[in-house]
Amino acid sequence: MNISVRQPRRLESYVCGGWVAGSKEGNVLLDASTGAPVAFIDSTGIDFTDVLTYGREKGGAALRRLSFHERALMLKALGLALMEKKDKFYALSTATGATKADSWIDIEGGIGTLLSYASKGRRELPNSRVLLDGDVEGLSKDNSFSAQHILTPLLGVAIHINAYNFPCWGMLEKLAPTILAGVPAIIKPASQTAYLTELMVRAIVETGIFPDGSLQLICGSTGDLLDHVDSQDIVTFTGSAATGQRLKTGKAIVANSVRFTMEADSLNAAVLGLDAAPGTEEFELFVKEVAREMTVKAGQKCTAIRRVIAPRSYTDALVAGLRDRLTKTSVGNPIDEGVRMGPLASLDQRDEVRARIRDLMTDAEIVSGDPENPLVVSGDATDGAFLNPVLLYCDKPAAAGTVHDVEAFGPVSTVMPYDTADEAVDLVRRGKGSLVSSVFTNDADFVQEMVLRLAPYHGRVMIGNRVSAKSSTGHGSPLPGLVHGGPGRAGGGEELGGMRGVKHYMQRTAVQGAPSMLTAVTGKWFPGAAANNDGPHPFRKSLAELKVGDQLITASRAVGLDDIEHFANFTGDTFYAHMDEEAAKANPFFDGRVAHGYLIVSFAAGLFVDPAPGPVLANYGVDNLRFLKPVNPGDALKVQLTCKEINPRASAEHGEVRWDCLVTNQNAEPVAQYDVLTMVAKTWPSA
Ligand code: NDP
Repeated sequence: MNISVRQPRRLESYVCGGWVAGSKEGNVLLDASTGAPVAFIDSTGIDFTDVLTYGREKGGAALRRLSFHERALMLKALGLALMEKKDKFYALSTATGATKADSWIDIEGGIGTLLSYASKGRRELPNSRVLLDGDVEGLSKDNSFSAQHILTPLLGVAIHINAYNFPCWGMLEKLAPTILAGVPAIIKPASQTAYLTELMVRAIVETGIFPDGSLQLICGSTGDLLDHVDSQDIVTFTGSAATGQRLKTGKAIVANSVRFTMEADSLNAAVLGLDAAPGTEEFELFVKEVAREMTVKAGQKCTAIRRVIAPRSYTDALVAGLRDRLTKTSVGNPIDEGVRMGPLASLDQRDEVRARIRDLMTDAEIVSGDPENPLVVSGDATDGAFLNPVLLYCDKPAAAGTVHDVEAFGPVSTVMPYDTADEAVDLVRRGKGSLVSSVFTNDADFVQEMVLRLAPYHGRVMIGNRVSAKSSTGHGSPLPGLVHGGPGRAGGGEELGGMRGVKHYMQRTAVQGAPSMLTAVTGKWFPGAAANNDGPHPFRKSLAELKVGDQLITASRAVGLDDIEHFANFTGDTFYAHMDEEAAKANPFFDGRVAHGYLIVSFAAGLFVDPAPGPVLANYGVDNLRFLKPVNPGDALKVQLTCKEINPRASAEHGEVRWDCLVTNQNAEPVAQYDVLTMVAKTWPSA
């Protein structure tokens, strides 16, 4: 497909349930390699208060009616549907300057993030509409007043203002946790590459998977949208620090304490360890990683390595190794399969990066590459936004300013020498907070010192060495399960991080009251709440019949010395505290021989289990097991088993049931407490 003959289109916004074009022709968007027009963008005429109202009222209400699992299943269906259409996205992605490998990160990386949230959401969140945060906090001795933190979705919209470098991933990585939380989104892609986001949103809308109003798209200016946000809305921003700070201090955002998550400039560092001399595996890995980070997406990655910090005596070899790789990187139009690095997103961006390189040159010298004269294997060297990789060297980084302050958002990095670990730490910290740093070393002492001292300045730290090399996801890849964001200059925001990212779109509330009231609010049974001891054994009840609070109180069972000895010999656990009276007495915790903790758990199961085939399909684990008081020969055990949480699966004929299991002795003193986890059928014929 020859993209230079593609007919430019007028992009449309998807608002209030329909596609609308701006009333003006708008700005032209050009192919990054050829300068040919790809699209026009304009949002004039859109009423942004209507957009907000539509999202809040229509989308929010519909999403909040669904459970976490139902929302997760939507994300899964959407991910699979988009994967089917990926070829369309790849074809258009070349216009942004992305090579196939770059597009993979953007398109399949984004879809993969949806799928990851879909599966983590079903594994880690309950199939309900309220999320509990942490354990119950007991506030009274008699269990009559307790507290539970809960999380509920914000009632507004999430406005996602995205950067131009990842038109698909940038949208999807924010959309997945937002939808999972039950909050509708308004996507505002950066104009320069909005045509690819628009294409993907068309594909999303065509699937009909999301309820009306859950997703709106603004192609072009957001007009007065941000003037009308309120405390239930949330704004996330990825882009330049200058724009981010301006938007963050907007009148409505400040006045209404609107949550504002910002991800801005980041002068990410990579540190080569003192042990990683030329010739070691770590040195080779480091060279490869720095060159890769400089050239992937032509260095237009918020996580790219901008500062390369290496022991002074290794820097000559390092510069030579990098120069060798960088000068061999073929730069050109990404539709050409032999091209390894595409152009920057636009001529404006290239001008911007050239200007920032000039800034860096006040402290550093270029040691590889020529920013002013692009060498390309294809594409238009004049109208395309090409820039070969540029490596700089700063000999006195401790005394320098620009190399720690100026982000050249392109294939540009600066090598800086250090002599001691202290110096390396100081240099990294001069970046004033970053999304990520990496440390390449095989020395456990060095890595401990570096990582613990660097962590407060970073959202992520990657350790590279020979052991992890094969499976490492690399310095620059944000992953759905890991936190993405950083303090200080990086914007102070946090995204992703698995379910942490979902909670950013929810309000945490401490709810205090009598346990039965907390059960009514949360659907979870709390100690002290009403329980139901009547009727059949709770293991005879299917999910259709079982209720939170259904409880079994067992008969009691004595524990004899013969039981302890039998268990010890049978299992091989002949630890002295169970076998040797004298030795056990000498132990500060015991007053003679005690029963094994696992014997208590086993006897408890023997007491509470209902043996016949029934709706309880399996016991898949226990959580939070604690032995609270020793059990001596002659003690008698009794169990109180209470249905604590019921979690039917949206896409299966069973669900998980969590039982509160309290084991007491003959004096009603708790000796063990834990949660028993079971799979229970939704229906059971004979139940
Ligand atoms: P901007 O900060 O100008 O734009 C980022 C986003 O904000 C875009 O979607 C932009 O839309 C939007 N925006 C700009 N002004 C407003 C406004 N008044 N109201 C609402 N939205 C607004 O960054 P650029 O994309 O131009 O990139 C410039 C620099 O930012 C890069 O050179 C790089 O240094 C840095 N950057 C950092 C990134 C990171 O992840 N850390 C990612 C990308 C860029 P529109 O495009 O329509 O103006």
